Amino acid sequence: MAFPTRSHHHHIAFLALSLGLSLGAIAADEQKAAADPGATKPAAASKAAAAAPAAKSEVPPAGEKAPEVAVDAKRASSSKVTEHKAERATPERIIERPVPRISAATRRQALASVASKVTDTKAEESHGAVAHAAHPPHWSYEGETGPQAWAKLAPEYASCGTGQRQSPIDIREGMKVELEPIGFEYRPSSFKVTDNGHTIQANVNGWNSMRLQGRVFRLVQFHFHRPSEEMIDGKQFEMVVHMVHQDTQGKLAVVALLVEVGARQPVLQMLLNNLPLEKNSDITVTSSSLDMNQMLPGDRRYFTYMGSLTTPPCTEDVLWIVMKQPVQATIEQLNLFSRIYPMNARPIQTTAGRVIKESN
Ligand SMILES: [Zn+2]
Repeated sequence: MAFPTRSHHHHIAFLALSLGLSLGAIAADEQKAAADPGATKPAAASKAAAAAPAAKSEVPPAGEKAPEVAVDAKRASSSKVTEHKAERATPERIIERPVPRISAATRRQALASVASKVTDTKAEESHGAVAHAAHPPHWSYEGETGPQAWAKLAPEYASCGTGQRQSPIDIREGMKVELEPIGFEYRPSSFKVTDNGHTIQANVNGWNSMRLQGRVFRLVQFHFHRPSEEMIDGKQFEMVVHMVHQDTQGKLAVVALLVEVGARQPVLQMLLNNLPLEKNSDITVTSSSLDMNQMLPGDRRYFTYMGSLTTPPCTEDVLWIVMKQPVQATIEQLNLFSRIYPMNARPIQTTAGRVIKESN
């Protein structure tokens, strides 16, 4: 269900927005992240440059980001947001943004300039959003642009149909082994809430990381799917939170938190409280801080396997970590989300012999 209004399609790349900002969002920071939280640009720049040319690859081309100018203009008019520009390192840019009223030529030019500064955009995807050239192909969760058609909507979405390790999956028969504990290092951070036309997403500022397999992944953004995309032994949950992290190599790791009906979820509430009134607009929240520790389940055991982004371009080589213990949200909170996105979950994909490990 999507929304009636899909006008925004032009998602343009959010990325651009920030160019300076954090656009780099994802990738960038993380790159350096390990070493230094603020870090980033260099890696990003180089990566972006490399990525840009390959517009057709599954990875979102860095080039497509929208000019930050345009975005800012829009933003200014539509919401209170603001300060982004200054800070960096925010993965935010991972969202798709409409680029209002800009000529193609202008946009192209802007994109080109941006491309050099942008970084890897895979993270954004997020789920969802990928930055694509001027007019990223529109996709949805139903109808002619629904999941069955994603691969045909654009060359860069081919993996959605031909990929061999797609997500989500129904998790069954995991190999029970002694998995190392995940080293979550989250701290109160400012954030930006966006309705990108496919989900509600929070781009998290500051240094929030997760250590696993000798790598450090920085939390770039998190968003929601209702009902849950992942299933466990055939069971689907009310919702799932996808926390998208990226390491210094640009590799993505998504921590999935299944959500069941229960206690009030403070982090979800904070997003609902700051929900933009319009799609493709965002609200930067600096008055209160987001603490992802409040969202993690007490039991940190998990399932892990390799998969993909669950939204176009369905890029693979994504490390999935699904926490075994669900977290909770009230029915009222779930209903509020449903008023905006009653169904934004990709169907289950074949597991195809993938190794699934799970904590004992
Ligand atoms: Zn997702």
